[in-house]
Amino acid sequence: MIWDTHAHLDDEDYKEDFQDVLARMKSSGILRVTNVGYDLASSERSVKLARDYDFIYAAIGIHPHNAEGITAENWDRLKELAKQEKVLAWGEIGLDYYRDLSPRPIQKEVFIRQIEFANEAGLPIVIHNRDAHQDVLEIVKAHPPVYGGVFHCYSGSREMADILLKLGFYLSFAGPVTFKNARHTVEVAEYVPMDRILVETDSPYLTPEPRRGKRNEPTYVREVVKRIAEIRNLTFEDVALQTMRNAERIFRLV
Ligand SMILES: [Zn+2]
Repeated sequence: MIWDTHAHLDDEDYKEDFQDVLARMKSSGILRVTNVGYDLASSERSVKLARDYDFIYAAIGIHPHNAEGITAENWDRLKELAKQEKVLAWGEIGLDYYRDLSPRPIQKEVFIRQIEFANEAGLPIVIHNRDAHQDVLEIVKAHPPVYGGVFHCYSGSREMADILLKLGFYLSFAGPVTFKNARHTVEVAEYVPMDRILVETDSPYLTPEPRRGKRNEPTYVREVVKRIAEIRNLTFEDVALQTMRNAERIFRLV
């Protein structure tokens, strides 16, 4: 019983075989999946998927790549979506200084604004952080998410993990923890208290070993669980159960 807490099943990559992907997921013990929005259209699609399938939940938000040009009407619509049933989080939001697809001042403004909206909506946040550790940290300290948050596909140092854990955040691990060169990520996965770890795929991206490079899907979250179990010297079942409980706690779903 595993919860893949971050996927993009509305992606075009699943157009041909969406039902097969869901069937494989169900038959391999993946109990739930959170479909995560990155702009208004994908947030709408996430809410629709959550409405159509009992095991799919939604997160809604504007990714830093898409931070430019959001209108007042767009924000109003997102706030509406946040109230829909089975919307569990506001995300993914944050900063991406690796690809810099939106100007940094706009990324920051849109990130801060969405933390405030999440607080108003009573939702935790899902954070995307790429090469922007310092600024992300400053922002979450100055604008704390009242209902907590998750660092999705955590890629920072152990030192940063320490600070985030003290601030109450959860750290989510994806395919990269299975990569052979994942020394820092493995170090963090070894260190984080077991009650603060989540697992995810970020499907269709970040496919874990041994399928690295191919399309990802929620079933492969098993590889992430397996790897964390190895790192922590726990059983697969222990990690599955603990991460499920953690997800239920942060996303307030029992
Ligand atoms: Zn994502």
